[in-house]
Parts: sequence; C-alpha cells; structure tokens
Amino acid sequence: MTSRIRFAVSPMVASLVIAVAISASAQSGDGPFSVGSAKAARGQKATGTIEVPAGVDAALIIPVVVAHGAHPGPVLALVAGAHGTEYSSIIALERVIERLDPAALSGTVIVVPLVNPRSFEQKIAHVNPIDNKSMNRFYPGRMDGTQTERASYLMTKEVVERADHLIDLHGGDLDESLLPYSYWTVSGNAPQDAISRQMLLAFGVSPIIISADRPKDPAASRYLENTATTRGKPSITVEAGHAGTTETDDIELLANGCFNVMRFLKMLPGEVRPVENPVWVEAIQSVTSDQTGIFYPLVRRGTYVSQGMKIGYVTDYTNRTILEARAPVAGIVMFIRAVPSMTKGETIANIGMVAKQAPN
Ligand SMILES: [Zn+2]
Repeated sequence: MTSRIRFAVSPMVASLVIAVAISASAQSGDGPFSVGSAKAARGQKATGTIEVPAGVDAALIIPVVVAHGAHPGPVLALVAGAHGTEYSSIIALERVIERLDPAALSGTVIVVPLVNPRSFEQKIAHVNPIDNKSMNRFYPGRMDGTQTERASYLMTKEVVERADHLIDLHGGDLDESLLPYSYWTVSGNAPQDAISRQMLLAFGVSPIIISADRPKDPAASRYLENTATTRGKPSITVEAGHAGTTETDDIELLANGCFNVMRFLKMLPGEVRPVENPVWVEAIQSVTSDQTGIFYPLVRRGTYVSQGMKIGYVTDYTNRTILEARAPVAGIVMFIRAVPSMTKGETIANIGMVAKQAPN
C-alpha cells in the first residue's frame, strides 16, 4: 500500500494551502527578511539575536537564524527550548539549521533553537530561573512584565506574527520519561484545523493528542503554538526526548519531521510520507502524588495500562510504602516520572486515553 494521507485532502483545503503560500510570498516580497538582528537576503541564511531589554529584571538575548529561500513561499517558524533542559528538541534545531539550504527553499524558515538560555545554562527544569515562570505559559506576553513575559511578547511580535505556520518543539524534561507524541489543537476553524492535522501527519510523530480545550482568545493564548493558532496560522507542537538524554532517534525524529512539514508546505521538493495509522489520544488523565518520598515506577513510557493497574509507588525513605499509584483509566503511559525525587503535588504520570476513532 502506498503512503497516502489517511484523511483525504479536500479541494477546498488544497486551495487554502496554495492561498497561504501566495499570501506569504506577497508578504515577504523580493527584499531581505529580518528577525531581530538576523537579516537574510533571498537565497541566504543569517544568524542573529532577539534582544529582550532589561525591565523589572535582567535583559535576555535569544539566538535566531533566518533562512530566506531563493524562491517565494510560506514563512515557517521552528521554535525549541522554552524549557531549556529538553535537550533533544534544542539539538534537533541545530541539525535543522545545519541542513537548511536556502538555495533550495521556497519561502522562509525562522529558527529559534533556545528560547530559555538561563534554564539551559543553569540546568533548571520547567521554568526560567530569572522569574520562576514557564516560558510556554505567558503568551502573548507583555513588555511591562518579568523576563519571561517580555520574551514572550517579543516572540509573538518577531516570530509568530511574521510566520504563516509554527512548530513548537518540546520533549521530556530532566524528570520526565516521555514518549514522543504530538498535539493537534482544535481551533474550531475547520479549514485551518485540516491543515494543522496534515502538518502533524507529515511530521510523523504518533500518538497525537487532540487538544480541544486550549484558550480561543488570542489575547490570552498562554502557549506559543496556541498564540499562532489563535491568530489563524495552522501550527503544531511536537515532543521527543526524555530525562536529559540526547538520543539520535529522538533528535532525528524532530529534525526530519521539520523537513517533512517543509515538503508538505511545498517549501522543499520531494514526496511527503505522512504517518498512515496514527494513534489519536482524546484525553489525558494525570496521576499526582499526595506524598513526598522516593518514587518507584512499575511501568515504562509507552506502556499500555488497564484501569486500576498499579503503575508505581512512593516510600518514606525507610522502605515503608506511603502511596500506591494506580492508572485512573485505561490508556498509554505518555510520561512517567524519571527520577526518584517525589514531592507532594507533583505529577507521577500522564495516561493518554485512546480515541475510539479518528477525529473528523
Ligand atoms: Zn517543554
């Protein structure tokens, strides 16, 4: 059987893809394309920075690369490192920068490989240590806020608003043993959602979580990808990597996925081989700990568990079990805590409930 998209592309959607490409080419014209201090002429790749000025706290410099294709086409933004210790996603974008050939490109690629340098440098998971905020929860940001909020504001202005599509890359953080998976945000705009779904199938990371409860208000978008989605730009989020590792499989999965989406968007020549039988996850159930102690997992990421199955336990440092964690529903272990440190209120695991059928 040939690799055909499982969901047929309607003529309306196909023409919309072309319309997106045409509007983008009109937007970028024949002149150079600048993001922050990175300014690339047609057929060139340029490196620069997005400078977040000091405010109530310190300034921040975010690296950026622009590959401005020799031929007109859509603008695709690739972003990683909002969580600076999700290493595979950051390294994947260095591989993308290495392999991007603007001479062969139709359109423009904006690459922001590390939004949160202080997290990376200090090896602090989940947040920007300057203001203790997640750099994927304060979009669209504001200039009178803390560093995370100012950076989010400039990412919205410099990257999201300049792009036609955005891919936000993540992975399991230092304490997360996470399965590669992706998110399909349902905006309610059917033609837009059809394109983002095809971007996901082209990217090729399954399971795909159906994310129907993201904010619909662009002024309160919270997440980076949702900032693009609520501004009418078909966009996706993909995760691969886990617990501080930099495995080639995870890095290549993300890097190759970005190029597959470029082929789907006709920014590069070549055949798109969309994933044929994705697993759709319709809901996530989190298991949290109401105890502090040593966590012992009994299942791995990717394990299929039945409802009520014991997935791990917590002891009090003297080998007395104080918590038995059980799966609240049947489903896939999307991630499970990768380290023994367990603090009351932390997530033990996320269980993905598999959809009975593919979404419409
Ligand atoms: Zn993340």
